[in-house]
Amino acid sequence: MTHNCLVLNKSYIPVETISWQDAFKKIFNGRAYAIEFYDDEIVRTPNDEYLKPAVIVSTEFNGMPSRVPVYSKRLICQRDEWTCMYCGVPVNQDTFSIDHVRPRAQGGRSSFENTVCACKPCNSKKADRTPIQARMRLRCDPGTPIINPIKAKFERIDLENVWKQYVNCHL
Ligand SMILES: [Zn+2]
Repeated sequence: MTHNCLVLNKSYIPVETISWQDAFKKIFNGRAYAIEFYDDEIVRTPNDEYLKPAVIVSTEFNGMPSRVPVYSKRLICQRDEWTCMYCGVPVNQDTFSIDHVRPRAQGGRSSFENTVCACKPCNSKKADRTPIQARMRLRCDPGTPIINPIKAKFERIDLENVWKQYVNCHL
């Protein structure tokens, strides 16, 4: 079993997950204390036995997970509410595409500011052109989405049961 350990900041806000070895180091260095353990997992040293920590609280860190979201197609679609940013038609997992406003062929990057959710017909109509060149109008200027940093960090992680009371209340 390779259970990780959930790290809470001083205010009990979940921040990250680390290996149990790193959790032990923090505890022994006085940088964290454990509040939950995996009661079926024992670590043996020559002189002692310990339960593996499941949740630790940092004694020194009171920051939050990063608020800068990691670029992903899913976040683009969520930001644009699963709507084509050219014609306004709703799209879904099967019908969406990601359009580079300034096309890659013209040096456009895959960034929050340069990509939008688009239906496939609009995307292929626009092709390797800017909206002006293609005479297509963007409904909104794309920007960096605002996220719940805890949700962004933890929603795609399989949560251990013992973590849920510390994480779910922030999602
Ligand atoms: Zn469209």
